[in-house]
Amino acid sequence: MTDMLLRFWGTRGSIPTPGREMEKYGGNTTCLEIRYGETIIVFDAGSGIRGLGQSWLAEFGEAAIDAHVLFTHLHWDHIQGFPFFGPAYFSRNSLAVYGEQRTAGGMKEQLGGQMQGAYFPVPIDAMQSKLRFEVTEPEFDIGPVKVRTFQLPHPGGCLGYRLEVSGGAFVLMTDCELDQVCVNREEIESNFSVRRQFPQDLLDAVSGAHVVVIDCQYTDDQYHRCKGWGHNSLTTVVDFCTQAKPHALALSHHDPQSTDERVTGMVNQAMERLEERGVNNTLIFGAREGLTMKVAVPLKPQQVV
Ligand SMILES: [Zn+2]
Ligand SMILES: [Zn+2]
Repeated sequence: MTDMLLRFWGTRGSIPTPGREMEKYGGNTTCLEIRYGETIIVFDAGSGIRGLGQSWLAEFGEAAIDAHVLFTHLHWDHIQGFPFFGPAYFSRNSLAVYGEQRTAGGMKEQLGGQMQGAYFPVPIDAMQSKLRFEVTEPEFDIGPVKVRTFQLPHPGGCLGYRLEVSGGAFVLMTDCELDQVCVNREEIESNFSVRRQFPQDLLDAVSGAHVVVIDCQYTDDQYHRCKGWGHNSLTTVVDFCTQAKPHALALSHHDPQSTDERVTGMVNQAMERLEERGVNNTLIFGAREGLTMKVAVPLKPQQVV
């Protein structure tokens, strides 16, 4: 049976963060790769997509690459790597680029805006690959992969994605502040210790997922200072996991201030709190650059250490 494989190329939120204290989880902004047989899907073009491009050029050599790049939204940390995506400059390659229609201009104008002369020396038209721009539909297929999208609460909006193949379901929920859409949001506003109740359609979107990658940018302390900025607190993620119970949950979109030590501390805290609640069957880990894993059961913990 073909396995769906996930690889993280960038797991940092907001801005790239090089440095020794960020080595374990990595400093590149959001970029993930999914492989399912011949089907190649990329999520977002944060700075992590530069390394992905280099790795493809080494892997494919002179052979043509046919891939799909799906955007969750166009905040800078999710598009800033696009001008540095090597395979886009070779005419033999075909890239289908998907995103929401957010402004009057299409995806090409939106991605190309950051490549205009005042910002970047090379215009988007220098990309010689066959670039096809598509508006993301709520549901569509990429070869054998079924794609479903859903809206996430984030300033300016953000798309959640669910990919489904036989034997594997993957969900990406980057850039979201789920407290904003909780059923009991007034109650949790005044009392942080009350458990969040999430809307059913959101829980349905992750139901039975093998791997869920979720925005867990803030510690609870940070969240109090950054409410409304569009990202989750650790408590929100723990509450969400308690209700959604995916097979594996990757905490991602690490805050630029979060050293390896802090991220590991957040992962450990999430594990402890879920264990206290009797949620023992979810594998919790911090998304880190370079990590590759199978999106299917059985998930092997050693694959993510
Ligand atoms: Zn972001
Ligand atoms: Zn964002």
